[in-house]
Amino acid sequence: MTEPVAFAVDTMLGRLARWLRILGHDAAYGPHLHGAGLTELARRERRVIVTRDTQLVRDPNLPPHVFVTSDHFREQLREVAAAIPLAAAEPFSRCLDCNVALATIDRAAVRERVPPYVFETQERFWTCPHCHHVYWPATHHARMRDELAELRLGAPA
Ligand SMILES: [Zn+2]
Repeated sequence: MTEPVAFAVDTMLGRLARWLRILGHDAAYGPHLHGAGLTELARRERRVIVTRDTQLVRDPNLPPHVFVTSDHFREQLREVAAAIPLAAAEPFSRCLDCNVALATIDRAAVRERVPPYVFETQERFWTCPHCHHVYWPATHHARMRDELAELRLGAPA
C-alpha cells in the first residue's frame, strides 16, 4: 500500500482542498498559500502542489504539481485523481477545518458534547485533537459518500 500523497493547495482552490480532506488526504490550505509561499511549503514538506495558477506552472523548477483547469470542484477532483491515486487515504479520517488526523474517542466521553439524539443513535465518535470538534458517521457523510461514488473515488458505504 502506497503512502497517501500530501498536497499543498493553492488559495484559489478552497473547495477542492476540503474534498481532498474528505478523502482523507493531508491538504494544506490557507490564505498565504499562493505563489512563492505555496512553492516553499511544498518543497519543505514534500507536498504535491495543486494549482490553477498559469504563471506558477511556467516555473521550470516547480516541485511536483497538478495543474487543474476546471472551475468546478468535481471536475477539479477528477483532474487531481487522474494524476495522483487518491484511494490510498482513509476517507473521513481528517478534520475538515484543521487538516489533522482524527482520533477515536470513547462514546461515554462525548455525552455532554453532542446532541442527545446523536448520542443515543451513534456508536462511534472521533475528535479533532486541534479544534476538539466531535465527528460521527451521519447524514452528511452519506451525501459525501454518494458524491464520491459518483466521482468513482471509492468509499462505498
Ligand atoms: Zn479540527
